[in-house]
Formats: sequence, structure tokens, C-alpha cells
Amino acid sequence: MATTQQKRDYYDVLGVDRSATRDQLKQAYRQLALKCHPDRNKDPDATAKFREIAEAYAVLSDDAKRREYDATGHVGVGERWTTEDLMRDFQFGDFFGGRFDDLSSIFGDFIGRRAGPSRGAARGADLRYDLDLAFEEAAKGGERIIHITRSEKCDTCRGSGAKPGTTPTKCSECNGTGQKQEVKTGKGMRMVTLTTCAKCHGRGQWIETPCDACRGNGVQFAPHSLKVQIPAGIDDGMMIRLAGQGEANANGGPPGDLLVRTHLRPHPSFERHGDDLYTVTTVGFPEAALGTKIPVTALGGETIRVTVPAGTQSGTSLRLPGKGMPRLGGKGKGDLFVVVEVRTPTDLTARQKKLLEELTGLETKRNRDEVQR
Ligand SMILES: [Zn+2]
Ligand SMILES: [Zn+2]
Repeated sequence: MATTQQKRDYYDVLGVDRSATRDQLKQAYRQLALKCHPDRNKDPDATAKFREIAEAYAVLSDDAKRREYDATGHVGVGERWTTEDLMRDFQFGDFFGGRFDDLSSIFGDFIGRRAGPSRGAARGADLRYDLDLAFEEAAKGGERIIHITRSEKCDTCRGSGAKPGTTPTKCSECNGTGQKQEVKTGKGMRMVTLTTCAKCHGRGQWIETPCDACRGNGVQFAPHSLKVQIPAGIDDGMMIRLAGQGEANANGGPPGDLLVRTHLRPHPSFERHGDDLYTVTTVGFPEAALGTKIPVTALGGETIRVTVPAGTQSGTSLRLPGKGMPRLGGKGKGDLFVVVEVRTPTDLTARQKKLLEELTGLETKRNRDEVQR
């Protein structure tokens, strides 16, 4: 059953009027879907949002479902159709002209599953991996080998779960469909509830002699080393998806994905804001007043001579274009900002003190002259 709790109004979700035409619905859906598609939108909530939008459109674009929804809201629709039913006839890929070929991965279990035996369609679970990256590694990009343990098809029985030499038989309880149908009639409505067959756990098959290696599960856990390509310029909290590298599916469906989330270790001398970097450098008070050139080390080790103009105030940032973090997708680099801190001298020698006193005298005199003029 589709859950009816905490669901937003479908019209609100698409941002349209209750009287919206089919074309208006289609246009609203297309725009929102393109914006929220998880391939483009890296927001962690993008997938949930995209599903919400797609579900709203699947219901409202179907006249019968829309009438039901208008009359009874989420409660009626939820009683009558499961989320799976709602999405079943809806072709996402076609809608975008094949622009996004990986739509089934977003919808995971419910879009891929069709009526009939559930084996052969449901995907395995996605796995998550947290990847720690040094600042320089994120800037350069490259390859990292990671080690994971995941479930995969059992070698011994090739995923069937049956001891080699034996064959699974059709489950007598569900007649091989993997599902039990319960039909209820009431209030002039016919409600069909599908539940997973308890005897075969949805596989549709009965294993008389289980495989020793996997105890009949058809999957076993195994360690794995995987190569992860790190794009230059990746930021903290981004997700790299390795399609098909997640958990195996016990019922024979395709494996899930591996989602690698990046965590950037802080750098002792650089701070990152988007593609720009910030570093702090200190100059003496006379140098700031008279102007000077100072060496600044950019990320990666390059030494750049930076001109500090005469009269630079503490806290001024000097911009070095193109010396920041690489932009993802090879689109150049951000900027490096050198924040100048002016050091006020302490522990003055007698001579320094005298010079500064002279300077103060000169300043006072100049101010007085300016006032008189
Ligand atoms: Zn096995
Ligand atoms: Zn069964």
C-alpha cells in the first residue's frame, strides 16, 4: 500500500492549479523533473523530491487516477493503488527522450518491478562508502582503491541457492509468482493486496536441498577492492555513484549501486569556499605602508610573488585569478585570495622607537597643517 501519511498535495507538488490542463501538468512536471533529477542536482534530497514529482505527475496525468484523487485525496488513491501500481504504466525514460538513461536506478525497487514473479527485476540494495580525501587529492583528482565487503551471487550455486546437482522447484504456495494475492470487496470497490509469499520469500521457487556455501540464500558476502575515479575539484559531501557495485539481489535482480560520499580533510593554510581558496599572510607595518612584494605558496606548491600595494590595510584580500581549486568538469580554476594581515611591531629597539616617534610627530604635524589649510 502506498503510504498516505505526510504526503503533499499532488497539485502543490507540481505547483499547478487544480484546474490545470494536461499540457500545463506536463510542462510543470518536465521543468521540475529536469531541475531535481539526481544526475544534475547533487542535493541529497533530490532523489526523494524527484520521486515525489514523478508520483504526482503519474497520478494527475492519468484521467482515472486524477478523478479518484480529486474525489478522495491520498487516502482513496492509497487504498486503491500501491505506489508500484501508480508508477507501473508510466514511462519516465520515454518522457525525456532517453536523455536520462539511468532512471530505473532512482526509482529502484518500485519502478523496475513488474507484475508476475518478483525474481528477475528488483535491484539489490545500494551501499554507501565514506571516503576521506586530503585537500590536495581533491584538487588533483585521480584514482583511489577502496575496500568493501558486499553480498554477491554465490559462486557455488551460481545464485540459485540450490545445492549443485539439484534444481529448485516451483513454489507450491504461490504457484511460482512469489506473491500472494488477497482480494477484498467492500464499499463498491475491489481491493487487491499483494504480499510476498511467506514460504519462498518472493523467489517463486522452493529449494529442497540448499547450497552449503550460501545456505540457500543464493548470495554470499565477499571482500572487494574497487577503483574510484576522483574528479579534480571534488568538494566535501559530494557523491560518486558506482553503478552496479552495490549489494547483489537474492532474487536474481541486478545489483544495487555503490555511493561514495567524499569528506575533505581541512588544510592547515587554505580555506575553501566553492572553487575559491583563501590563505592568510602577514606583512610588517612599514611594508604595508610603503608597499612590497611577498612570496605566496599556492596549493600544489607553486610560489607566486604577490604585490602588496602601498597603503594596504590589515584584512585586505588580494585576488590571484585562476590559482584556486579546479572547477569540476575541467572548466578552469577558481581564484586564490591572499588575505593580508598587518603585523603591529612589539619589542621595539630604542632606534625603532625613536623612528616611530618621529613618524608620529610628522603625522600629527601633517594633520594639523591640513586642518589649518
Ligand atoms: Zn550457494
Ligand atoms: Zn512462494
